[in-house]
Amino acid sequence: MTPMIRQYLEIKNQYQDCILLFRLGDFYETFFEDAKITSEALQITLTHRNGHPMAGIPHHALDNYLKKLLEQGFKVAICDQVEDPTTAKGIVKREVTKILTPGTVVEENMIDENNRYSLLIYSYDNEHFIFVIFDFSTGEIYIDSFEFSENEIIDFISSFSFVQILLSKNLKTLKSKIKNIYPSLYIEDLDEWYFNKNFEDVIKESYEILDIDVLKLNKNELLALGAVFKYLEITQKQKINHFSFPKRFKSSNNMMLDSTTILNLGLLPNQENKGKTLYDILKFTKTSMGSRTLQHWISKPLIKKENIEKRLNIIETFRNDVLIMEELKEYLSSVRDIERISSRISLFRATPRDLTALRISLEVLPYINELLNLIGLNTLEEFNDLKQLLSNAILEEPTTQVGTGKVIKKGFNLELDRYKKIFENSSEILKEIELKEKQKTGISNLKVARNKIYGFYIEVTKTNINKVPPNYIRKQTLVNSERFITEELRNLEEQYSIAEKKIEELEKKIYNDLIVELQNYVKDLKILSSKIAEIDILRGFAEASIKNNYIKPQFNNENLVIINGRHPVVEQFTDNFIPNNIKLDRKKRFVILTGPNMSGKSTYLRQIGIISIMAQIGSYVPAEYVELPILKNIFTRIGAKDDVVSGKSTFLVEMAEVSTILNNADENSLILLDEVGRGTGTIDGISVAWATSEYIYQVLKSYTIFATHYMELTMLNDFYDGIINKRVKVLETESGIIFLHKIEDGISDKSYGIEVAKLAGIPNEVVLRAKEVMNEISNKTAFEEKLKSMKKIKQKKFSKNKNQLKLF
Ligand code: ADP
Repeated sequence: MTPMIRQYLEIKNQYQDCILLFRLGDFYETFFEDAKITSEALQITLTHRNGHPMAGIPHHALDNYLKKLLEQGFKVAICDQVEDPTTAKGIVKREVTKILTPGTVVEENMIDENNRYSLLIYSYDNEHFIFVIFDFSTGEIYIDSFEFSENEIIDFISSFSFVQILLSKNLKTLKSKIKNIYPSLYIEDLDEWYFNKNFEDVIKESYEILDIDVLKLNKNELLALGAVFKYLEITQKQKINHFSFPKRFKSSNNMMLDSTTILNLGLLPNQENKGKTLYDILKFTKTSMGSRTLQHWISKPLIKKENIEKRLNIIETFRNDVLIMEELKEYLSSVRDIERISSRISLFRATPRDLTALRISLEVLPYINELLNLIGLNTLEEFNDLKQLLSNAILEEPTTQVGTGKVIKKGFNLELDRYKKIFENSSEILKEIELKEKQKTGISNLKVARNKIYGFYIEVTKTNINKVPPNYIRKQTLVNSERFITEELRNLEEQYSIAEKKIEELEKKIYNDLIVELQNYVKDLKILSSKIAEIDILRGFAEASIKNNYIKPQFNNENLVIINGRHPVVEQFTDNFIPNNIKLDRKKRFVILTGPNMSGKSTYLRQIGIISIMAQIGSYVPAEYVELPILKNIFTRIGAKDDVVSGKSTFLVEMAEVSTILNNADENSLILLDEVGRGTGTIDGISVAWATSEYIYQVLKSYTIFATHYMELTMLNDFYDGIINKRVKVLETESGIIFLHKIEDGISDKSYGIEVAKLAGIPNEVVLRAKEVMNEISNKTAFEEKLKSMKKIKQKKFSKNKNQLKLF
């Protein structure tokens, strides 16, 4: 075993769960098992040295390969040389300097603009769960406690796009469930000591606070948060201090949309559906900060009228001045990801190019402010000191590597300038020497040059070799020439290489000092980022409202009125979208919607939910007139989804969703139900749907739309004035039925099942036969009997004390 391999094995031993990238000269090498894995994962050659497998990647291409390894779910440890190899005695000292996982990448060229949320789940009893959601690249962090079932946790995960999940080790079955559904998602379980030991000190140090109580977290939440900080500290090998204070999911300022609703209404891009979402339709943002924040806005609509109206009024301001709106778009396009750049500054991971990007971003602020000023909006802080500092310190186009002498601007540090001066004059010095040597030797094509390996040299072509004087010392032989050095050149070279070393050292130090100074601005830069995000989104909303023909919604406490409303996503992909109305109030608050399959019931249901959400995030809405109560919550039960993994039936999943609704909704909720009770026998199904409707109507008093196949439910209207019937209009023609997608008052008297089968392309013979069978078995009197018996259902008054199993 060579000393190098011994060193490797010692280090690898401490990082068993990582692929260890071991710096060797210009390469990062992997050995043994790691080499086999990496060569396959990265499609690079597997070689053998002294009988053991080895595979390496060039150091300058590290980011590229890292990205690939992380995408495939590996944890990677980077082991660097931590002393100068030229002066090292014996084997160069090496240490792991960084451990990367998908959730801890922050480098610009390795990630896109979207949030990179990690989720830590901690439970001490498998019943109470603490969730910590954090984005290491931006410094956002959220925390809360939930009483979730494992299925609810899976739903929660699928409604987000997490890049990494950390679990306390006791959650074994949950881990395997998640692994099953999302095989490529990075999951790591954390040993018990992460949660047993109290890492309050780590938290306090990170936040620079003396009293942990300012965070307002309970004991278990502190354990979970401490585990997050400890994990990051260990993997990043540095103190973590770029996180904001943890926010709650549950907030009195926001609507809490549950994950099922976010999925059902197609609000955000997520793991499950790759189709277009509300986010895609509203995304007219020009900055990364704006795009990310828009996702936060959509998942957390506002519930205070004044906050909503503030946003709507800004949109109106932009709409009134389209030219300024357009001009602002141009300037915003030049603003780079200040939020992430400031995180990287905090982490000492900002590159010189990051600093240039920051400077360029700050330089457009005065122009943005000028426009904001013109239309009377609040302006942004301009950070003149910081801008000046960056422009004095960093070259216009610096190299990515610090230490090349091509990062720090002239005039920023005199010592550095002095060393760089030596190089500035080098071409003249070379010319001088060249001239002198030509005269001395009489070799007219003699050349003096310098390269990295040999330093200065004199090159003489083979034809002139006989004229070379004795003081020339041969260094290298090429095909047509020979290279020599002299005493003079050797001395010069020594000077140069000292200068080169000095420049590298100095530039690194100056850069580091600069970063330390910049760290003072991070907090304010994050505030700036969030203000830019807000302007960016609202400007985008204004543009969306013009392009897509949206109007300003109004708010009240009574009426839910939408005139000629449209589904913002479906309308983009349908040539002839039919707008529809709804008019509900505190009394008439429950709609039973009947109509055949494929006639547009779900679209109608969803569009009401989506329009309400758009209104409450402060956006204009797709309709001609909209007046809405401010909803505290929207609940949905749409579509049949089998829970294949847990083996639960559609009906059970459906009932679990209904139960969540019945336990959480109230008079400030909107409930959208599509086909409740379908997963079971008809009589059971009708009965459950009937009872559910009564309970919602009487006890919860939520605004409700219930789309159903059960014609029997339309009879609820006989019992309760506030439950009204609507149907989808169907045109019956000679050649079959046509769906008009128009919702009107009334009851759909047929289910048109056979016609829909025909539309779907079922062979004509089968359709005809089905009609025959239907005529045989459909027994009008039986149905009328059933209706009669339903009329005799006794009214039930529910008591008001519902059990409290609040989810949020
Ligand atoms: P249902 O819930 O009744 O089965 P959907 O709401 O899923 O029906 O609608 C079926 C299809 O009809 C949709 O994919 C959409 O293309 C079209 N559609 C629905 N509503 C409308 C509308 N208002 N205008 C135009 N096309 C519509």
